[in-house]
Amino acid sequence: MNTESAQPSLAFSINRSTHPRSAEERATILAKPGFGQYFTDHMAAIDWSIEQGWHDARIQPYGPLQLDPASSVLHYGQEIFEGLKAYRHADGSIWTFRPDANAARLQRSASRLALPQLPTDLFVESIKQLVQTDADWVPSAPETSLYLRPFSIANESFLGVRAAQRAAYYVIASPAGAYFAKGVAPVSIWLSTELNRAGRGGTGAAKCGGNYAASLVPQQEASDNGCSQVLFLDSVEGKYLEELGGMNLFLVRKDGSLLTPALSGSILEGITRASIIQLARDRGHEVEERRITVEEWREGVASGDIVEAFACGTAAVVTPIGQLKGHGFAIGNPDAPAGKITMELRQALTDLQYGRAPDPHGWLVRLV
Ligand SMILES: *Cc1c(COP(=O)(O)O)cnc(C)c1O
Repeated sequence: MNTESAQPSLAFSINRSTHPRSAEERATILAKPGFGQYFTDHMAAIDWSIEQGWHDARIQPYGPLQLDPASSVLHYGQEIFEGLKAYRHADGSIWTFRPDANAARLQRSASRLALPQLPTDLFVESIKQLVQTDADWVPSAPETSLYLRPFSIANESFLGVRAAQRAAYYVIASPAGAYFAKGVAPVSIWLSTELNRAGRGGTGAAKCGGNYAASLVPQQEASDNGCSQVLFLDSVEGKYLEELGGMNLFLVRKDGSLLTPALSGSILEGITRASIIQLARDRGHEVEERRITVEEWREGVASGDIVEAFACGTAAVVTPIGQLKGHGFAIGNPDAPAGKITMELRQALTDLQYGRAPDPHGWLVRLV
């Protein structure tokens, strides 16, 4: 566990809310937080301009942003974001998971979207300052957390098409309930064959709002077909499995080995994906990262070689997949129980995050 804190390059000023929610209001929200519905009393903010660089780091009361209607984010979608969680351990301490990896990914997303790169120390400090200010908002019931949403927008008032010369970075926080309130249940997913979320040379590997905008119609198609998530194929050949709208994909073979699509340039490199690969290898599973066709999945399930499938991401951690459906076909069984290896890996990762198991890779960072 990494408890050292280097001095960040900018100091945060703290402007506390004069009207925070009462302890009773907070308790009511924390008893049933859902996901992404309620926000804490404060937010973190840092401004950037081409002349001043990053400046004015602060914690301020949560509230609406004032944006000029000509702000580039509103016209050209220059926006990126991150997602990570703060976990309360049994002794009351609060930790986060691999924030340096989120910082590095935000920097990669920034470089693709022509936004300024926030230094890692400022990213981690912004999370620390916000969670320290709103520590009472980190729930303690099993599998609950405080979901953190860092994001950055271009806010220069200018309609010319070029990288904006003014930007801002914010972090908001939202208490999150156990994702599977009634126990972890396998989901059905829908194969999108006509529509893609990302293309070759596009922004698929960046975590940007535009990719999500592109996934909403196929996500609706999934929903109309009784599926909870959509699975995308590569956009060049329409043949290889890529990922879900907001989660990465794994298949499990009967010999205990794992298969996951290799990063293709249009797949978002999940931190949960990387952590699952490491944890699986630690536990003696082989993990292959390579191109996988839908055909291979279908044939593997038919022959009994592929016995489990799951999706993974920060919000739901690991979600077992019961069935893949598409126009005129279905693979797997929606009523099958969650896979054994799927559930073991889910448990291993959440045990580490909640401090119930050792942290051999030093992934946890103490916040409070
Ligand atoms: C955020 C995201 C993921 C999962 O990444 P994690 O770091 O594991 O949360 C996967 N795919 C897409 C498209 C994403 O935006």
